[in-house]
Amino acid sequence: MSETNQNYVNGEWVDSETGEVLEVENPANPDDVVATYQGSSTEDATAAVEAAAAAADDWATTPGPERGRILREAGSLLADRKEELTDRLIAEEGKVYAEANGEVQRAIDIFHYFSGKAADLGGTVKGPSATNQNLYTIEEPVGVASLITPWNYPIAIPAWKLAPALAAGNAVVLKPASAAPGVAIEIARALDEAGLPDGVLNVVTGSGSTVGSEFIGHDAVDAISFTGSSEVGQMVYEQATDAGKRVQTELGGKNPTVVTDSANAAEAADIVANGGFGTTGQSCTACSRAIVHEDIYDEFVAELVDRAESIDVGPGSDHEMGPQISADELDSTLDYINIAENEGATLATGGGVPEGSEVESGYFVEPTVFIDVDSDMRIAQEEVFGPVIAVIKVSDFDEGVTVANDVPYGLSASVVTNDHTEANRFIDEVEAGVVKVNDKTTGLELHVPFGGFKRSSSETWREQGDAGLNFYTIEKTVYDSY
Ligand code: NAP
Repeated sequence: MSETNQNYVNGEWVDSETGEVLEVENPANPDDVVATYQGSSTEDATAAVEAAAAAADDWATTPGPERGRILREAGSLLADRKEELTDRLIAEEGKVYAEANGEVQRAIDIFHYFSGKAADLGGTVKGPSATNQNLYTIEEPVGVASLITPWNYPIAIPAWKLAPALAAGNAVVLKPASAAPGVAIEIARALDEAGLPDGVLNVVTGSGSTVGSEFIGHDAVDAISFTGSSEVGQMVYEQATDAGKRVQTELGGKNPTVVTDSANAAEAADIVANGGFGTTGQSCTACSRAIVHEDIYDEFVAELVDRAESIDVGPGSDHEMGPQISADELDSTLDYINIAENEGATLATGGGVPEGSEVESGYFVEPTVFIDVDSDMRIAQEEVFGPVIAVIKVSDFDEGVTVANDVPYGLSASVVTNDHTEANRFIDEVEAGVVKVNDKTTGLELHVPFGGFKRSSSETWREQGDAGLNFYTIEKTVYDSY
């Protein structure tokens, strides 16, 4: 194992003043400590915010095209290291190769996308009512933005917050999740090498309650973008709004796929299995509920069980489904499996930990399908964040939509149907920030807005695409008479 990774503050790589270290283990083989990071203090976080505040004005007045040039160069440096970053992501988070490699590519693409946006930023010119007047708007950066990110997309989510924040001219402090901070730190390294001025980006590792709290509470912070669990997100939202700060929170999901009687059972099972078992079910948009018309239910269940049982589970480097990230996440999934059985759901397949030399020590769990699930069971209401799909039988399309909406969350939802009217009704009636027809609930494009309804989001701002820039800019309206 190499030396302890350092924080990046004011353009320098520095140790925490605590001397404490966070260990990150390989979830496929927890005896293997992959890397160590700074266990930082409130004081370390304060220094990072102060560095950002000091750098903010110069970066705000750096021309957009120059900011864009640095982002483009950073994206290219990440591209040069794509395989190394993929390996690091697999080692810390446990994803399979295709998912990890695709996620690194997404981060590269995001930096290239927002490099162009940095040059496009401006405002709008309008016709004034008065003569001899220019009437227009200017988009200014918000100031210092705090970014707090989860472990499940450890490079894509930091990228989709950082790139628009920097493109718009904000200075930034970033706290990556403690479980897998390595690839976020590598973004900082790429930006540093690309010529980002000192202090414009600062990355501090450490616990959420210490570093995260200071990144929210410090007076010099103007905006907070948080992605993570609904429980922590609610606290973050309250802390930020109490202090009068701009805040966005993107949170958990309980995402449904509704399968109608006009669907092909095998195609629907492919869609649900990919959405539910991909990334080991550890996506905020993962499908965790299949809501299936009674006429197709038996055939669909047989097809879904078949797919679950054919998945090759093992270390991410060369298998189809990797481990859960930690012992806590594995225990939580196994708890939910117990709860579902106790509540009367029928275990159709999975439900345990797989056997074999490759999986005996890691945090692996079998792809699991529950049938005979009622919408009010906890397995149908709460985010499991593991590869567990609850199948709910409904008697018609209307009931399917009602059940789809019968949860506190509203992140992503899909319908499988060959009926165009049903598809349109689903788009209109489902309560979710992302709606898909004949597609899995997971998978997003980087150039369109992303965010949830209900408990999945603060619903204040959207991320990604043009909408992603709005959070990091504030408009000034100019009446210039001459
Ligand atoms: P989490 O436990 O809420 O942690 C998210 C981040 O918040 C981490 O960096 C964490 O630091 C930090 N944190 C913890 N307590 C904090 C506090 N009191 N103040 C400030 N920051 C604090 O979530 P997670 O387990 O990493 O991620 C999984 C969750 O994220 C799932 O619920 C998933 O659905 C959701 N998610 C949502 C989206 C979306 O866009 N809607 C995308 C991905 C994931 P530590 O790591 O040090 O605890």
